[in-house]
Amino acid sequence: MAGEFKLAGVMGWPIAQSRSPILHNYWIEKYNLNGRYVPLAVQPERLADAIRGLPALGFRGCNLTMPHKQLAMTMVDSVTDTAKRIGAINCIVVGDEGKMSGTNNDGNGYVLSVQEIAPRWKPSDGPIAILGAGGAARAVVVALLERGAQEIRLINRTFEKAERLAREFGRAITPLAWDRRADVISDVALLTNATNQGMIGKPKLDISLDRLSKATLVSDLIYVPPETAFLAAAKERGNVTINGLGMLLHQARPAFEAWFGILPDITADLRKTIMDTFKT
Ligand code: NAP
Repeated sequence: MAGEFKLAGVMGWPIAQSRSPILHNYWIEKYNLNGRYVPLAVQPERLADAIRGLPALGFRGCNLTMPHKQLAMTMVDSVTDTAKRIGAINCIVVGDEGKMSGTNNDGNGYVLSVQEIAPRWKPSDGPIAILGAGGAARAVVVALLERGAQEIRLINRTFEKAERLAREFGRAITPLAWDRRADVISDVALLTNATNQGMIGKPKLDISLDRLSKATLVSDLIYVPPETAFLAAAKERGNVTINGLGMLLHQARPAFEAWFGILPDITADLRKTIMDTFKT
């Protein structure tokens, strides 16, 4: 272990649930780096003070998680166009003279997680159906549009939220009412659950897959549990399925590289290490 000590972390409130410290410290140890990634419990009203303090404390940067992703965007020196479109940042990099830049790797992480399982799939391949229109859905929509998606069916319980996204992002987005969800997925290339339904402690996602083609890739942003009832039902029908762990891992790689100078690998052992932390 050599060189200057490098520090990064994740700000959230609460923060104990975040697996990012386990993930980044796994890589720090694997690559024998002199550094640490720490959980930072920051109350929303202290966020500006905490962000302003990063350069003085010697941080290379940090991740942001709930509920800071939107507000933090207004507290850094520059924000990438992608993050502006998403309306949130999940990563800060401290640069020369303490200047802070904000990025959002969530949507890119999602696309890479699908391509890891289905390397030939492209967002432009065919219609995409997304269930949900919250913060995560927004990041996914932006990444898909930036990579050529032509038709995204956005199906949300609160229809007005899907409509708002369609107005903002244009004609490639078709907002659809929640009660149409089973009818509008028959011909899609990719079907994604971006709601919180199916997460541990929540009811399972209520959708019939009877009309789904076997060729449709089916993904869920959830990774606790690793296989939601929705993914299990799709797999049972013969569809290829993708859970949300890949999104978490793929968004972390470029952040780690920006802070620690190495683009780290995603391995089966890393996946197991993260998932083992959810075992009781
Ligand atoms: P959010 O902004 O709170 O959005 C929640 C979404 O779930 C909204 O579309 C909401 O619909 C919908 N929903 C809630 N209850 C519902 C119900 N009973 N029936 C149907 N829809 C319902 O949350 P988020 O940040 O977008 O997160 C969404 C999911 O993505 C979570 O499970 C989260 O864990 C996951 N996620 C994963 C990653 C990753 O790295 N894998 C990253 C971020 C998020 P309404 O608009 O009608 O309320």
